[in-house]
Amino acid sequence: MAVPRTYHLVTLGCPKNDVDSEHLERLLTGGELLPVIQPEQADAIIVNTCGFIEQSQAESMGAVQALAAGKREGQTLIVAGCMTQLYGGEVRANVPGVDHVFGVGQWQDVAKLLSVDVTGIHDIPERTAKVVGPSAYLKISDGCEAPCTFCVIPRIKGGLRSAPAGMLVKEAQRLTAAGAKELVLVAQDLTAWGEDLGMPVASGLPGLLRMLSETVGRDVWLRLMYAYPSRVTSELIETMAALPNVVHYLDVPLQHGSEATLRRMKRPHNLEKVHGFIRELRAAMPDIVLRTSFIAGFPGETDEEFEELLGFAREIQFDHAGCFLYSRQQWTGAFEMAAQVPDEVKAERRDRFMQQQQRIAAKKARRFVGKTLEMLVEGEGETEDNTPIVAGRTYREAPEVDGLVFASGNAAPGSKVLVKIEEAGDYDLFGRVVRKK
Ligand code: SF4
Repeated sequence: MAVPRTYHLVTLGCPKNDVDSEHLERLLTGGELLPVIQPEQADAIIVNTCGFIEQSQAESMGAVQALAAGKREGQTLIVAGCMTQLYGGEVRANVPGVDHVFGVGQWQDVAKLLSVDVTGIHDIPERTAKVVGPSAYLKISDGCEAPCTFCVIPRIKGGLRSAPAGMLVKEAQRLTAAGAKELVLVAQDLTAWGEDLGMPVASGLPGLLRMLSETVGRDVWLRLMYAYPSRVTSELIETMAALPNVVHYLDVPLQHGSEATLRRMKRPHNLEKVHGFIRELRAAMPDIVLRTSFIAGFPGETDEEFEELLGFAREIQFDHAGCFLYSRQQWTGAFEMAAQVPDEVKAERRDRFMQQQQRIAAKKARRFVGKTLEMLVEGEGETEDNTPIVAGRTYREAPEVDGLVFASGNAAPGSKVLVKIEEAGDYDLFGRVVRKK
């Protein structure tokens, strides 16, 4: 292989994969490789795959097959990440044109393969950050120790590995210096941070938040994604409420609303405790916005259990909630479980959930009409009648998963403005810029 000078990187899957790709890009550009937009222009094509569920594995395989089919003479095709961690052999065997296969966490090996002298590249912390416009993901740990019977991530990523606090503080400084106005903290289980560093269960994150809050200053939002239900402690809630730049938003995937189903999932199944910490969150931060995700069609899920899920979601009234079809995964506890639910029943239940959630989300969005909120501007443009308009998010919307806010007025992307909310859609809000910050 001639020494490559250009690369094209395709990243699939979740924000945590974005962060891994960011790490790889810093190694490659540190080795003076140039990124190119079109795969056909690149000496090396790299695919960072997702292996979470069947659907994402199929998407990853499709992307690899398409790139392999379009490969020209002399190009190198490298496939890495979560899917190849599980199915590397199958990818190599079934997709002619794939030259190299890597698993997760082998970014230095990929760079070395592309003739990058990684020993000469210092100060690139592994697995920590990705800048997306005025917002950046900060991945505080990788891997997971939880026994969830539907999840293949512990098989892909291994056990919990927390990034040291010092490295995260340095990374937060680098990102805010690079212009980030929001840091979105991500992990497989955000609330387990520090447990592998000897900290007591669920005690590390509040301390880390205090450090990051002081580091980035009150103008930079800190947003928490992927909390584990039994680790949403009073200390975490008090810390969120006390720190001026931690937005009153929490993503806590609950996965189901029936205790019987949660037991089979090996998930925290005491729903009274869930009601308890949500009451505590709402008491400490009355404007708290809650996101969660559920699974429809887990093995053994009866009509009654699914009705319990619908009832639970109606009771809690989440601002944002997703519902995914159960995906039967090799190497998971549920793979061999009896009473697998037919695909059409899964889909029918997921649709019923989303119809109910759309009504709840619309009602929750309406409570913001008449309010003035701080908005992080992510884009600007004009309406058909040439009215200047900006798009972005308030504390209520996480990047890439929640709705947006559209406001008439002028403001530069990356700036923060105050917006008077005048109208609410099912997921988006509409208003006008009343003041620039
Ligand atoms: S906590 Fe999340 S990442 Fe960990 S096993 Fe459960 S579902 Fe998977």
